[in-house]
Amino acid sequence: MHKFRTISDVDVAWRTVLMRVDLNVPIRDGKVADATRIARVAPTIADMVKRRAKVVVLSHLGRPKGKVSAEYSLAPVAPALAQALGQEVKFLPDCIGPDVESVLATAKPGEVYLLENLRFHAGEEKGDMDFARSLAKLGEIFVSDAFSSSHRAHASITGLADLMPSYAGRLMGAEISALEAALECPKRPTAALVGGAKISSKIAVLENLVGKMDRIIIGGGMANTFLLAKGIPVGKSLIEADMVETAARIMDKAKEGGCEILLPSDVVVAESFAANAPHVVVPVDKVSPDGMILDVGPETVATLKSSLGTLATLLWNGPLGAFELEPFGNGTFGVARAAADLVSAGKLVAVAGGGDTVAALNAAGVADRFTYVSTAGGAFLEWLEGRELPGVIALLDNQASAQKKSKLEEVR
Ligand code: AMP
Repeated sequence: MHKFRTISDVDVAWRTVLMRVDLNVPIRDGKVADATRIARVAPTIADMVKRRAKVVVLSHLGRPKGKVSAEYSLAPVAPALAQALGQEVKFLPDCIGPDVESVLATAKPGEVYLLENLRFHAGEEKGDMDFARSLAKLGEIFVSDAFSSSHRAHASITGLADLMPSYAGRLMGAEISALEAALECPKRPTAALVGGAKISSKIAVLENLVGKMDRIIIGGGMANTFLLAKGIPVGKSLIEADMVETAARIMDKAKEGGCEILLPSDVVVAESFAANAPHVVVPVDKVSPDGMILDVGPETVATLKSSLGTLATLLWNGPLGAFELEPFGNGTFGVARAAADLVSAGKLVAVAGGGDTVAALNAAGVADRFTYVSTAGGAFLEWLEGRELPGVIALLDNQASAQKKSKLEEVR
């Protein structure tokens, strides 16, 4: 279990708090198109305001590669953040320098400032300590609420944590608690449902989970390569020929370690990768040479539902089929609803994460009934791979600081 200093451990009244959050939101026509990430960090900011801190919000947006670019300005985020908080948010057109310093020197308790995109400065992504020092000058306390950026040793993530008294915000705390509950010290039996397009992007995840979980449910495009490794032909389905051996090795490792692997027993096979493409449900060993597996079949859904009923903890990453295309989301949606029902009945802890997973659970209409859904993509996957995230280590309790330093040196 990680032990952190959190915002509950510090008196922030009248002090300037630098808050690193992830406001990397989609912007269309100069407006925030999806405010999910804003809503997620708003409670920590509101808490700081209520406790009379002077709040300075730091974030990146997109990949401007160290150059100022209007396309990646955080300016449109200020009104959206103001709306979420129900109070004014003052936007400053840079994040370091004498102008920013002089404005913030007159900040009042309870005020919120949003600074311009950190990545307009090349030092941010390089983890440059001079840039970090220019940021650190602006405040007295550092609060990190950007779990989704914690796999990066960037200046505003690890640099500020090295330089300033540092605390985890509420979202950071919630993400870590959920992942620990699902992966580090879960109630057993446990299962991971791993789906999505390709094995190649999730080899390290599978290798780590095989050693930790009681059961692994494999679905989506990646199941096809596992089927091939078992000698089952999959027609024209998405496969990765160079991953067949890897799939076989993962299955061997699972067998040795007593981890059960569940693959589809029936599948929905379509003529083409398109919405409403003509399709049939067939047993998994009866896929025609020109067929394309786009979803798990109803028998598999029923098996997975009863499998979930015997679990205490489920960790979910990746869809079971091509859920964006009607009707090939049925497998994912059916299993997601069954998981949500078990969570609602208090019988299952279900933690999900990763970009497409959130979209799939939203499409199934169950995201708010899972125990926790992480919006972090890369950071969530790296945690599942068993890697220590530099931005999380940087917040570890003082007692662990020697360990924290050596681990940080490793990752840099
Ligand atoms: P990932 O980003 O690896 O989680 O992959 C998500 C993508 O996998 C989604 O866009 C799905 O449409 C796709 N996917 C899931 N199952 C299949 C399948 N059987 N064939 C092709 N693509 C799939």
